[in-house]
Parts: sequence; structure tokens; C-alpha cells
Amino acid sequence: MKELMPQESEPPLGVDLGTSELVLETNSTNKKLFTEAELLNSDFEIIGAAASNFRDKYFPTVSDKKWSSWKWQIQNSYTNFDELSQILDTSSVSDDVDFISKSNKLPLRITPYYASHFEGKSNNYPLIKSVVPTKLEFIVTEGEEEDPLHEESMCPTENLVHRYPDRVLMLSTGFCSVYCRYCTRSRMANKDPKSYGVKVWEKSIEYIRNTPTIRDIVISGGDPLTMPDKQIEYLLSQLRAIPHVEIIRLGTKVPMVLPQRITHNLVNMIKKYHPIFMSVHVTHPDEFTPEVKEACNRIANAGIVMGSQTVLLHGVNDHVETMKNLMHKALMSRIKPYYIYQCDPIPGSSHFRTPVSKGLEIIQGLRGFTSGYAIPHFVIDAPGGGGKIPLLPEYYQGREGDYVVMKNFEGKTYKYYDPIAVDNLNGL
Ligand code: SF4
Repeated sequence: MKELMPQESEPPLGVDLGTSELVLETNSTNKKLFTEAELLNSDFEIIGAAASNFRDKYFPTVSDKKWSSWKWQIQNSYTNFDELSQILDTSSVSDDVDFISKSNKLPLRITPYYASHFEGKSNNYPLIKSVVPTKLEFIVTEGEEEDPLHEESMCPTENLVHRYPDRVLMLSTGFCSVYCRYCTRSRMANKDPKSYGVKVWEKSIEYIRNTPTIRDIVISGGDPLTMPDKQIEYLLSQLRAIPHVEIIRLGTKVPMVLPQRITHNLVNMIKKYHPIFMSVHVTHPDEFTPEVKEACNRIANAGIVMGSQTVLLHGVNDHVETMKNLMHKALMSRIKPYYIYQCDPIPGSSHFRTPVSKGLEIIQGLRGFTSGYAIPHFVIDAPGGGGKIPLLPEYYQGREGDYVVMKNFEGKTYKYYDPIAVDNLNGL
């Protein structure tokens, strides 16, 4: 790992940070990110059967304690095809040594825990498709852009996106414990590491402090939960101290791909800064293992309200039954289904994109067929920075005189008496 300058990386609180307690760099592949003592310092103890079998096969000398340490998981992640070829057939891509630099430049990183899902599966397995690069990433189609939402044109400071009047998005780090091949912010992964860290955050905090209309902050990235507790606490405490900030949201995939990160220390620290919400990126029902359930339990028990975010992906989760199962499993782990996103047009992502009609078909297949609590909004984040636009199947069919005509979830037509003159009567 390339060392960051202390003033760029450490909270100016006089807190004692170990040298490895820095914002991790995106392209870091160094096996010595953490000290031996740090690798053993974890209170996560759940190891499900799939992970246990995988550990026994590929990491037979690694203790329960180490396997359950989020730092060990990051330090031993798969970051190149050589490593990945030990557990997967990578022959279709590993012949190309420059593969990553020629694709959309998103690094390869998969935690051993998440890789345990792959055991015994073909390369067509949804979770493999979502995080293992393929040469399809070389195909760039019309409308694809590095920054499809034009976020960089809405940045009052380097890492803050101010798109909506009352809320901002803070991009805290470029690092993720697993890189999703369809990531909207894949451009972040290649940014100069100086784009993150306390020095940059301070300017954004100052902007928020000076903008009283901002009541809601989303801290995302990269994945903010890959940062050490002290970095996260620095951000939360600074933001919570601003009187007009009402809610703070953390956008993360960590509970699904690195559940060991959800230590008691972490959630006990976060809950000091309530109200805190967490937007959890969920992709497929298979992600809900005993480890993930434990992580979600800890988060929910700390009073942190979780909502799901799912990118609709061809060949991964684009079936009504898969999506229904995913939403049910999320609810069972106390995550309220919140958004299904149309896959954003980043370069080399067309193999993931479904037609818009697929998203509508999925919503139609959920509404009426499961509890309302299990139904997320299907949205397109409008290219060019138009914000999230919800799309709904056509339940409203129009008017017939004093009646509104509607179709229910079974396709049957109903009329609701809604006289046009009612406003005039109210005015009397
Ligand atoms: S976890 Fe989120 S930010 Fe990180 S690669 Fe996946 S989608 Fe992108």
C-alpha cells in the first residue's frame, strides 16, 4: 500500500491511529496491510457451513479467529487472475495480461468469504458474474460514459455531490472489499488517492456546515465501511455536530460481502450518532448466509434502519422469482426493500443491462403477489444528472367521466368513483 501523507489521512482529533488505520487504496494488493495482532482482533464468530468448507479446502491452516477477522479477509482477498485461478476457471480472461487496464479499469477484489459462494459452481453462477471480470467489459456501447450521472459537474467540493436541494452524497473512499463489475462509480476506483481522506472531507464538511438547506447526508464511496472505525467516527461526529443535519445514511455492500466487518465495536460506535440509516446493496438471495444474518442482526439491534438497493442485472437477478426471494430474504434480515435500479450505462456494462420493460415486469410480478413491505421502487437514475425517476406498471388506465379506471394485479379492471366536480364542492 502506498503510504498517504498523515495530514491527508488521519483525523485531526488527536486520536491515536496505527499506521495501517488509513483509508485503504483502491488498487492495493499488498499482503501486509495489517499487523498480525490486528488480524486477531475481532468479535465476529459465526462461520457458516459453506465458508467453513471453503476455508478447510483453500486456507486449511487459518484459524476461526483469523477467518472471522475483516482485516484478514481484506488482506487475503483475491486481487488477480493467478490467485483466482486456484478456485475458478479463468482461462477465458487470464491469457490477457493487460485485461484489467483494458477493461473499465475497475480492479479485481473478492474476499475469501464471498468467494466461498463460488465453490462447485460454473462461471454462469450469478454471484460469479457480478464480481469476476469478463472480456465483455471491452464492449462499449452507445450512451455509456465514465460518469453517466454527471456527478462530477455537481460537486461543490472534490468528494461531495449536491444533486437534490436538501441532501448531499459524500464519496468518502474509493476502496471496496469487493468490486462489482457494473459499479456506477467505477471511475472512483482510479482516482488519485488524494481525492479521499480527512483533508478532502474537511472541505465538504465545511460546505455542509455553511449550507443550511442540507438535512440529509449519504456517505458512500467506494464503501465507507471498509474504513477503520476511527475514520468513520470522525465523519459521523463532525456531521452530527452540524445542527441542520437531520439524518445520515451509510451506503454499503459490506454486510453482504464482508459481514465480519460488522463488529459490536462498529455498531456501538455508529449508534452514538443516530438517526443513522444504512442502504445495503443486495444482489442475489444466495448472499443471505448465517454470517450475513448475524451482521444484519447486529446492525438492526443497534437501531440502524436498513433499506435495500439492488441493481437489476441480466443473468444475475432478472427473474421475478429470484427478485421476490431476494426481497423476502432481505425483509427476514430486517432490511426494508427500497430500490431496484436499472443498471447505469458505465463503459462495458451492456452485458448486464436489461430492457426497461424487465424492471416493470418484476414490479408487476411482486405487487399483489407478496406483502407491500417486500416491494421496492424501480428507478432509473436519469443519464446526465436528472436524478432518480420511478417507473410503475400501468395500473392507472385513465378516466371515464366521474370514474377512475384501474387495473389490479390480476389484470382485472375496476372503476373508482372520483367525481370531477368534487374540488368545486369543497370550495363552497
Ligand atoms: S460495493 Fe458499491 S461502490 Fe463498491 S464496487 Fe460495488 S457497487 Fe461499486
